[in-house]
This record gives sequence, C-alpha cells and structure tokens, in this order.
Amino acid sequence: MASIKTKAIVLGGTNVKEKDRLVDLFTLEKGRICVSMRGVRGDKAKLKMAKEPFCFGEFVLEEGKGHVVTQVEIVDNFYDLTKDLDKYYEGCAILDLVKSIAGQSEPKLFIELLQALKTLCYENVKKYYVFDKFLLDLTEFLGFSFCQNKCSCCEATLNMVYFDFGKGAYVCPGCKSETAIKLSQEAFKAIKILHDCGYEKLSSLTMTSGCEKEILKLLALNLEWRIGVKILKIN
Ligand SMILES: [Zn+2]
Repeated sequence: MASIKTKAIVLGGTNVKEKDRLVDLFTLEKGRICVSMRGVRGDKAKLKMAKEPFCFGEFVLEEGKGHVVTQVEIVDNFYDLTKDLDKYYEGCAILDLVKSIAGQSEPKLFIELLQALKTLCYENVKKYYVFDKFLLDLTEFLGFSFCQNKCSCCEATLNMVYFDFGKGAYVCPGCKSETAIKLSQEAFKAIKILHDCGYEKLSSLTMTSGCEKEILKLLALNLEWRIGVKILKIN
C-alpha cells in the first residue's frame, strides 16, 4: 500500500469501535479528508494527542480502503486553547467554519487557519477578534470582497453607511434596499482596519463593545447570506 505524508490540522472526529476514531482532517495537500486512527483512545496510545481537535502536524497516511494514519509528528497541538473556555469555543467556531467550506486542496485557507489558531492560542487578543478576522478573510477568499469606500451601486462617497446583505456590499442611503442595515461609522472604520491588518496586529486592536457586536453580526450574517450556512451560533 502506498503511504503519503501530509501537513494537516484536526478539525474534529467521531469515536468508533472500542478504541478507534474517525478523524476529520484538513490537509495542506489534499484538502479535507476523513482518516481512520486505530487504537488512539487507549490511555497508552502513541497517537493519543494527535487525534484531538486543533492538532497540527505531519501525518503519514496509508492509502488503501480509505486512509489510515500510521504516524504523526506533532508540530503544535495548541493545548493552551483547552485551558481557556472562551478561546476554546472561539477556536471551535473557526474549525466549524472551515468544515462548512473546505473541499479540495486550499493551501491559502490552510495557512490562514494556522495563523488564526496561533494568534488565538498565543496572543492576547480580545474575544472574537480572531474569529472576526477569519470571517472577513474567508469572505474575501471565497470571492465576496466588500471592503470599499464607496457605494457599490452609485459610487457615492459613504458619509452614512448601510450594508446590504442582498448585495453583500456597502451602499449609500439612496441605494439601500429592504435587506440593508445601517452601520455605525466606528464599525465601518473597524472593519477596514481588520481587513488591512495582519493577525500579528490584532492584539493592539480595541473597539467599543457596541462596535464589537455590530461587526461580528455583520460579518457572520453576510457569510451566511453568501454561502447559505448558519454561522452565528455564538452570541
Ligand atoms: Zn448609492
């Protein structure tokens, strides 16, 4: 049987039989695949840590009937995420997003996910900012870029901003439809900052709590509109 080596991140999994687990793996080379990990639920199992969500490493897969993991070299299992419930749930929300869109090999998304997890785990970033950034970048990645300074219909300068979910874009008061909501200037500016800054700058970002709520709602709802998958399970 042929075996391949691939960099991968564990998205989740299901327990099967007495000690096995079917693991949902997001790989750099093959995109999202389901792999079988045998005997990994035993206390002394060698690959015990590698079956957990968030685990990033180099997986050796034997390809026959399905993929069987024979070896894993863990690079980082982001263990600290399990010590902070807020961060853990935020991380799970990010993994869920990847599950809802990942198919074939998507190296850009893989790198983005890794950056998001690293930032969430090791940087002191305010709650949901990493999730916001990931949502925004994912929206762009899927081809639904909307961060512009002008009305998407008439190109007027936006002094008063509306976001139109039907269009997935900013519009002016004159062009808004019934699917538009009014956006505060603070949220409009904050989305631009979030768009332009890298993950490494997120820890220096602060918004008012009203603005945080506005942004999270807009970014999640917009992606829901675009891809038809429910995202906003978190408050
Ligand atoms: Zn307009």
